[in-house]
Amino acid sequence: MSDTLTLGVDSAMGREVMAHIDLLAACSESPDCLIRTYLSDQHARANALVLDWMRAAGMECQVDPVGNVRGRYEGRRPGLPALILGSHLDTVRDAGKYDGMLGVVTAIACVKALTEAGERLGFAIEVVGFGDEEGVRFQSTLLGSRALAGNFDMSLLDKRDGQGISMAQALHDFGLDPARIPEAAKQPDEVHAYVELHIEQGPVLEAENLPLGAVTSIAGATRLQVVITGTSGHAGTVPMAGRKDALAAAAEAITAVETVCSGAAELVGTVGRLEVAPGAVNVIPGEARFSVDIRAAEDARRRHAVQTVIGAIEEICARRGLALKLERTHESPSCPCAPWLIEQISRAVAAEGIAVRRLPSGAGHDAMAMAGLTDVGMLFVRCAGGISHNPAEAITAEDAASGARALLRFIRDFDSAARRAGGSRAMKADPA
Ligand SMILES: [Zn+2]
Repeated sequence: MSDTLTLGVDSAMGREVMAHIDLLAACSESPDCLIRTYLSDQHARANALVLDWMRAAGMECQVDPVGNVRGRYEGRRPGLPALILGSHLDTVRDAGKYDGMLGVVTAIACVKALTEAGERLGFAIEVVGFGDEEGVRFQSTLLGSRALAGNFDMSLLDKRDGQGISMAQALHDFGLDPARIPEAAKQPDEVHAYVELHIEQGPVLEAENLPLGAVTSIAGATRLQVVITGTSGHAGTVPMAGRKDALAAAAEAITAVETVCSGAAELVGTVGRLEVAPGAVNVIPGEARFSVDIRAAEDARRRHAVQTVIGAIEEICARRGLALKLERTHESPSCPCAPWLIEQISRAVAAEGIAVRRLPSGAGHDAMAMAGLTDVGMLFVRCAGGISHNPAEAITAEDAASGARALLRFIRDFDSAARRAGGSRAMKADPA
């Protein structure tokens, strides 16, 4: 029966997923590109669409106190603990249309397939469209998933957007009561796991000609802000010997980041921002400021790379006689996916006749915040050229259908008992 159902709804699911993606992509704050920020009018429009789809899929649904859309499909009896599925509905500026949204619409399509088959499972399913993951409006990420996980920092309500509107005010304007945000939280015993389908946002699956991948962990990240100060001077009159050129030192430092981070697997390092002062063609740069972003699936590997990079930058500045100011602006540990979920996601992928590729995620996801509540797993869908956070972001309808098929299979075969059987991080961390 399982295969008959899957085959019957397969292409319809893929088509519906792609159609819903296009409808969400039309909810944009700009006529020229896709941008949809937290608590904007377009966020409300997207929520309304998703609520409609959830209702049509047979779910009870609501907008929660932080602005997430949430739908619930009861199991064989009401009130059973839930398998939570979802991703985010907000976007970056000039975004692609699949990042986040694909995970929401695919999860709804899976529930719809269960409803149409009249199938109730031994657990409830909840689908969440998180209101904020990217952090574009208030410069603070994962707001929706942190609230659901019970880790929302209420002091963030005072943060203001570019227009000077506080988060508390924006919630009011959206029709929500900020004081009720703690009510958005789930309790651990109400939840079996959180599983997120997402585009890979990288080129690994495409390079290996595979439509899907099972995520092993979400990379941890360290960000540094580096300021190198030398002496500016006339580009024509100061001899090369004895110059204190801050940009030349920064160039060496950037190359050091590249060298250190090219040495090991599942380690990446990027200098993405560089400002030079005074920034004139005929003046020796007196100051260079740049960012360093280092990520790795393993925390020990990342910490070692960060230390090596810092040592290299210190050596470069000392050798050139330049002043160095180095600040750690961000530090997040890696977030391992639960082995029992990796296993069950892998089995669903294999059952679709697809070779199982396990890979880490270099990008951050709502699953990181949800890991504070429950065990997490992720299923990646191949995207064209690994391009993301860009209007060129693309997937094929066939891959959307493969993702939907695998997620549906995962849901129907989901065995929450495997968690208690000892596969869970939470259980390992707490032997009691
Ligand atoms: Zn995303």
